[in-house]
Amino acid sequence: MNPLPVSQRSLDGRLRHLLTLEGLPASMLESLLDAAEVMVPQSMSGTGLRDRLAGRTVCTLFFEPSTRTRGSFHLAATRLGADVLGFDVHASSTKKGETALDTMRTLEAMGVDCFVVRHADDGAVAELAAGARPETSFINAGDGRNAHPTQGLLDMLTLRQRKGPDFSQLKVLIVGDVRHSRVARSDLHALRTLGVGEIRVCAPASLLPDGDALDGCRVIDSLDEALYRVDAVMMLRLQRERMEEGLVPSLESYFADYGLDARRLGLAAPDAVVMHPGPMNRGVEISDEVADGPQSAILQQVGNGVAVRMAILQALLG
Ligand code: ASP
Repeated sequence: MNPLPVSQRSLDGRLRHLLTLEGLPASMLESLLDAAEVMVPQSMSGTGLRDRLAGRTVCTLFFEPSTRTRGSFHLAATRLGADVLGFDVHASSTKKGETALDTMRTLEAMGVDCFVVRHADDGAVAELAAGARPETSFINAGDGRNAHPTQGLLDMLTLRQRKGPDFSQLKVLIVGDVRHSRVARSDLHALRTLGVGEIRVCAPASLLPDGDALDGCRVIDSLDEALYRVDAVMMLRLQRERMEEGLVPSLESYFADYGLDARRLGLAAPDAVVMHPGPMNRGVEISDEVADGPQSAILQQVGNGVAVRMAILQALLG
């Protein structure tokens, strides 16, 4: 990835924007996770933190679809007492040809303090941040294949809750469409920074990324082999909207070779945790019995999304 057009930290080291986990020190990731852990009880209900961001305005600016990320940012901001402005691209002047930059500046002129942005283009959120007023904060809610830092953090919180804070002995396996996945990139940055013992990656050659994204990882083609005694399996969705035709011969053959079912999960450590960022393609990446089974942390990830996003909003605006 090219250097960011705007720095995500101020001169005193504090976070101004959250655009990527790349380059953030372990101490910062850990203190965000600690803050999120404390928020967990308040993230599901309650009014105890509603004075934290009272008077601040958060805008969710999504140019791509979202269920979990947008919903949990909305709840997170509400539970901290912020005003929330939801931008719906399908009912907006984007349809009349307004650029993303003009849309952002228009909303900024209404008093938005923080934009939570999802966009189909790599680097688009950083570009918007570079075009905004210096006091406006940006959170990347997913840009193209580049980064999804809050998903990376909520995955780390889930791993920490299931496996404890010391990641140094863990073997973590990432399976599937790493090439097109911003979640995989953010998870890889976080797993490395937090010192995971071993990172394995399993995918067909057509879905492996170019460049240095997999530095330090063990790439294993056979899923049975890759699963051997891992402590956590992170499944990825096939990003068909970002894929040229023909990268996967068929969904059936993909499931046969790279799908996680109960037999295969039996090859991992007995208490291995199964994660998926959602939305899942059941029967393509993962079987029903694994997705809904006792080792699945998929709904715990979703719940943690609210707490993590509260912690980020608090760090940027509090
Ligand atoms: N929801 C995640 C994202 O927006 C994962 C996915 O869509 O596969 O990147």
